[in-house]
Amino acid sequence: MKAVRLHAFHAQPVIDEVPEPTVGEPLDVIVKIGGAGVCRTDLHIIEGQWDAAMGTPLPYILGHENAGWVHQVGSGVTNVAVGDTVILHPTPTCGLCRACRAGDDMHCVAAEFPGLSRDGGMAEYLRTSARACVKLDPQTRPADVAALADAGITAYHAVRKAIPLLYPGTTCVVIGAGGLGHIGIQCLAALTATRIIVVDRNPDALKLAEQLGAHHTVVGDGGQVGAVRDLTGGAGANVVLDFVAEQGAEQDGFAMTGRAGSYFVIGYGGQLQIPTLDIISTERNIIGNIVGTYNDLAELMVLAQTGRVTLHTRTYPMEAVADAFADLDAGRVPPGPNIRTPQEGQWPRNCVSVTKRASC
Ligand SMILES: [Zn+2]
Ligand SMILES: [Zn+2]
Repeated sequence: MKAVRLHAFHAQPVIDEVPEPTVGEPLDVIVKIGGAGVCRTDLHIIEGQWDAAMGTPLPYILGHENAGWVHQVGSGVTNVAVGDTVILHPTPTCGLCRACRAGDDMHCVAAEFPGLSRDGGMAEYLRTSARACVKLDPQTRPADVAALADAGITAYHAVRKAIPLLYPGTTCVVIGAGGLGHIGIQCLAALTATRIIVVDRNPDALKLAEQLGAHHTVVGDGGQVGAVRDLTGGAGANVVLDFVAEQGAEQDGFAMTGRAGSYFVIGYGGQLQIPTLDIISTERNIIGNIVGTYNDLAELMVLAQTGRVTLHTRTYPMEAVADAFADLDAGRVPPGPNIRTPQEGQWPRNCVSVTKRASC
C-alpha cells in the first residue's frame, strides 16, 4: 500500500510503497483510511520535537487523526464489523488499567499512539484496536470528520471539563479561533449558556468565530488583555481556554482570568512565569488538557452528526501531502467550509484533511 513516511527529521515525509498492516492480536482492527487529519503536531514531529518523548524509530507512517471503514477484524472483536464507518480515538488502550476503568483513556499505562509512537493513518490502511473505534452513520464521509479525532476531541474535552464553571452569567474567553479554537467555540455554544469572547490576531478567523457563536471578538493587536477586562467590567473571565499558549498568549491568558477563575492550557510551546503569590491570593487555577476520552469523541460525533459542530478544513489527495504540510505551515489554509477535491461525490480513496491552524 501507499503511505506517507517520515525518514528523517527536518526533511519532508515521502510516499512509500509498504506492506499492509495485518491482524495480530484478537482485538486488532484494520481500518481502510478515508481521511487523515494534518495538524501542527505533524509539523512538530517533522521538526523532531517529539523525538525525545516518543523515541519512535524512523521511518514510520504519520497520521494521528483518522477515520475510515473497518476492513478486517481480529477473532475477539464484537463491537464493529467489516464495512462499518468509524472514527478512531487516537490511542488504542488496554482496557484493564486503573485509568482505562475510569474512562480516562489518555492516561492508560499501556496506550499506543499511531502516528506518534508507531505507524499512523496517512496510508491506505491502519491497524488499531476495537476499543478505539467509534461507529458512525454509514453516510458519513470519513475525510469530512477525520480531524475531529484529535483537533476536535481536544477542544471538546477542555469545554466538557469547563462546563460546571460556565453557568449562566459567566464569561469564557477563547484564545485562538484556528483549527482547535473554531471547534471549541461551537462546543461552548452547543453545551453552555456562557458569554463567549474570542481573541485572535486574524480578522478572518474572528469573522468565522462570530458566525460560529462568539458574542464578542477581540483583535489580538496588543490591547487584548485590557479589552477583555473592559468587557468583563474589570473582573476578568471565569474561564479562559487558551488554544495557542505560546508567543505570549500564555501570559495574556492568565492575566485575562478573573479571581477564582480557571485558565485552561490547550495549545503548547510557550512558558508560564507567574509569581506564586498571584496564584494563591486570587485562587486562580491552571489546568492542563491532553486530547480527550473515548466518550468525549463519541459525544462530539453526536454534535457533528446533528450539524451543531462543523469542521472548516481543506482536503488534499494523498499524493499532494507535501502541499498540505506546506500550506498548513504557511497559514495558507483558508477559512470556509470543507473544500472537497475532486468533485463532490467522487471521494478520493486517500485524502488528507488539513485543519486551518490546529496545534493539537
Ligand atoms: Zn489502560
Ligand atoms: Zn493533531
